[in-house]
Amino acid sequence: MQSRWWSCGIRLVTWTWVWSLALLGVWCIPANEVNLLDSRSVMGDLGWVAYPKNGWEEIGEVDENYAPIHTYQVCRVMEQNQNNWLHTNWILTEGAQRVFIELKFTLRDCNSLPGGVGTCKETFNMAMKESRYIKIDTIAADESFTELDLGDRVMKLNTEVRDLGPLTRKGFYLAFQDLGACIALVSVRVFYKRCPFLVKSLAEFPDTIPGSEASQLVEVVGRCVNNSLPLYEPPRMHCSTEGEWLVPIGKCVCQPGFEEINGSCQVCKVGFYRSLLESLACSKCPPHSVARQMGATACSCEDGYYKLDSDPSNMACTPPSPVSVVRKGHTGKSSIALSWAEPDRPNGIILEYEIKYFEKEQDSSYTIIKSKDTEMVVEGLKPSSAYIFQVRARTSAGYGHFDMTLTLMFLDHFFLRRCGYSKAKQDPEEEKMHFHNGHIKFPGVRTYIDPLTYEDPNQAVHEFAQEIDVSYISIERIIGAGEFGEVCSGPLRLPGKREIQVAIKTLKAGYTEQQRRDFLWEASIMGQFNHPNIIRLEGVVTKSKPVMIITEYMENGSLDTFLKKNDGQFTVIQLVGMLRGIASGMRYLSDMGYVHRDLAARNILVNSNLVCKVSDFGLSRVLEDDPEAAYTTRGGKIPIRWTAPEAIAYRKFTSASDVWSYGIVMWEVMSYGERPYWEMSNQDVIKAVEESYRLPGPMDCPEALYHLMMDCWQRERSNRPKFDEIVCLLDKFIRNPSSLKKLVNSSHRVSNLLVEHASVEGNCSTRSQTVGEWLDSIKMGRYTELFMEGGYSSLETVAQMTSE
Ligand code: AMP
Repeated sequence: MQSRWWSCGIRLVTWTWVWSLALLGVWCIPANEVNLLDSRSVMGDLGWVAYPKNGWEEIGEVDENYAPIHTYQVCRVMEQNQNNWLHTNWILTEGAQRVFIELKFTLRDCNSLPGGVGTCKETFNMAMKESRYIKIDTIAADESFTELDLGDRVMKLNTEVRDLGPLTRKGFYLAFQDLGACIALVSVRVFYKRCPFLVKSLAEFPDTIPGSEASQLVEVVGRCVNNSLPLYEPPRMHCSTEGEWLVPIGKCVCQPGFEEINGSCQVCKVGFYRSLLESLACSKCPPHSVARQMGATACSCEDGYYKLDSDPSNMACTPPSPVSVVRKGHTGKSSIALSWAEPDRPNGIILEYEIKYFEKEQDSSYTIIKSKDTEMVVEGLKPSSAYIFQVRARTSAGYGHFDMTLTLMFLDHFFLRRCGYSKAKQDPEEEKMHFHNGHIKFPGVRTYIDPLTYEDPNQAVHEFAQEIDVSYISIERIIGAGEFGEVCSGPLRLPGKREIQVAIKTLKAGYTEQQRRDFLWEASIMGQFNHPNIIRLEGVVTKSKPVMIITEYMENGSLDTFLKKNDGQFTVIQLVGMLRGIASGMRYLSDMGYVHRDLAARNILVNSNLVCKVSDFGLSRVLEDDPEAAYTTRGGKIPIRWTAPEAIAYRKFTSASDVWSYGIVMWEVMSYGERPYWEMSNQDVIKAVEESYRLPGPMDCPEALYHLMMDCWQRERSNRPKFDEIVCLLDKFIRNPSSLKKLVNSSHRVSNLLVEHASVEGNCSTRSQTVGEWLDSIKMGRYTELFMEGGYSSLETVAQMTSE
C-alpha cells in the first residue's frame, strides 16, 4: 500500500506506522461522553470535501486487524502559497450546546526536511461553521517527527482537544485549513459530555446535558424514588460542563410506613412502624401496642391499654392511671388555684405531679410546674386569655398522660368556660420550667428542649437517644481523642438493619457522676436534631461500661485538618458547596432555637462525599473543653477568634453571634484552614475587632464570598444576614458560578485590612510613626515590603488608600 506521503517525495510514514497509530488511540470512551462523530468508526467513505482537489487527500489504511481506518493527509511543503481546506459533513449536535473536538494527528518537523523548503509550516487551522466559518484555533504539534524517528520506528502521535460553544443550531461543519504543512489527520472525534443518570440519597437525577458556558452548572431537581418524599427541601444536584454531578443539596427519605434498605424504600413489616420522616428505620411497636398490617405509620394499643393521640408514637401504652379531674379554686388577678384528685389506680407510688399550661392555640410555648401535692396556685397568667391546664402523675414507672384537660377563659376574676372543679393551695416546692425560649419562627417547627429542664439527666438522654446494646458494636480503630476519652470507629450491626460505620465516643474509666452527665449531655442535644448537615446520633450505650455515644462516621474527620491536608485541591464551587452545607445545618439549628456558641471549622466534620456536618454540641460550659476557648474578664471561657464582640463583652450569645462565627468559618474554608488572625494574641484580636479591624479576604477568594464574610462581621448584630439568607445567597452563587469569578486581589486584601483600621486610627497619621512601625504595631509587619513597593511609604498615603 502506497500513501500520499510517498508521492510528495519525502518519506514520512508507512502504512505499518499508521496502524500502530490506531493502536495508540483508545477506542473505549468515558461513560459521560457521547460521540457525535468518530472518524475511526466510519466504515465506508468519510466523504469529506477537499478544496482544492490536490490538497488534502483521503488515504485508506488498515489497522493491525486489517480493518480499514481513514486518514486525511496533506504534504505540499515543496510548493508556495498553500491554502488547502478539508470540510467535514454536517455534524448534528443532538441538543448539546457545548462540544469537544479531539484530533489525533502527526506532523513532520520542518527542520528535518531537505533544505529549500522555506514555506514549510508546523501548524494548521481548525474552523467551524454554523452560518459562516469561524476560526476555532491554530493547532500545533506537541511533537513533530523527523526522518530519524521513522528510521527508529518511533511515531509521534499528537492529541489535541478543543471545546466549542455555545452552539445555537442543530448542527455545524468543521474544517481544517493547511497552509503548507506535512500533516496526517489520523482521527477526528466530536463529542459532548453529559451527567449520566444517577440515583443518590433516594433521588433520581436524569441524564443531563450541561450548559453552554465553560464554568456553568445546571441545577437539576431530583425525583424521589417510589415511596419516598423530599426531606425539608427537594433534592438538587448540579451538572458541570465536564459532565460531573457536583454539590448535592437536600435528600429524599422514605415515607412513613417504609424504610430505606439498599437504596430503595421497603415496607415496614407486621409489628413494626415508622411514623416520622426523620426516623431512620421502622421500629418495633412500643410495649402493649401492635401493628397488624405491613406499612404501619403508628401502632395501636392492645385491649385494656391506652395512650393519647397526642402522645409520641414511641410511647408505650399503659393501663389506665389518669388524674381524672382538675378543679379550679380561688382566682387572683393573674393567678388561679388548681386541684385534682389522685388517680384511682396508679401504676406505682406517686412521686410528683406535672402541671402543664399554655395559652390556647399556642401549645408550642408552654410552662411546666411540678408539685408533690394534689393542689397548687398557678401565677403570672395574662388577663383576658384562654388557658389550657393539664395534669399528669409521675410514678416509679414513669409519667402518665396529660389526660385531664381544663380549658379556661381567664378574665380577671372570672372564668367563662370551664371543664373542671376547684380547690386551692400554693405549693412552696413548685418548680417552673419554661420550655419555650422565644425562638420559634414558624408554627410546626420543633423547638430544641434544653436538657437542663429535666430534673434527671438520664431521663433526658433516654428521651432523645436510643439505647444500643453493646454487642451490636465492634470497635476497630481509634480515630481521635475526645475530652472524655478516646474516639473510635467500627461497624454497627443493628438487627434487621443494614450495617453502617459509626464513630464511637467513649467515657474513660474512673469518671465521676458529674463527668458521666456532662458526657451524655451532648447526646441529649444531638438526639433532638435530624438534618443532613447536623451530625446524626445513632444512640448511646449506658447500660454497660464503657459508656458510649454512637454517631454516624465522617470519613474525612474535622474540617480544619481536612482543609490543611488538601490545600488548594478544591474548586471554588466545591468549597461553596461545603459552606452551603454548614449554613443549611446552622439554619436548622437557629430555627430550632439552638445557639451553638462554638461554631468553628474544627467543630465541623466531613464525610467521604465532602458533605459537611455541624458537630460538638453542649452547654456553654462545654466550651471549657475547647482548647481554643480562653477566659474573658467576666470569667467565662470563649473561643475569642470565632466569637462576636457582644458575646465576648457581655455573653450575648444568639443566632446572630453564630452568624459572626460562620463568617470566620467561611474565612477558614476559603483559606484552607488558616488560623484566623494568625499569630495575633487573643487580647490583640479583641482590640483589633473593637477598632473595626476585620480579617482580609483570603488569597484567591471570590469577592462576593468576602462581602458575605464582611456582612457576617457587622458590629451591629441586627445588620448581619440570617442563616436562611446566607443559604439563599450561596445557592445563587452555585447556580451562577460566574458571580464568583471576580477575586479579591492581593492589593485589595491588604488595603482592606488597613482601611478599616486607618479609619479608626486616623489620628495616628499625625504622629511621626513610619509605615513599618505602624504595621509592626498591628502585627502586620510582614506586609511592609509590599507597602513600600506599592508606593505607600508614609502614613498619610496609607490613610488615603481605598479598596480599589
Ligand atoms: P470530639 O470530642 O467530638 O471533638 O472528637 C475528637 C476527634 O474525633 C475529632 O476532632 C475528629 O477527628 C474525631 N471524630 C469525632 N467524631 C467523629 C465522627 N463522627 N466521625 C469521624 N471522626 C470523628
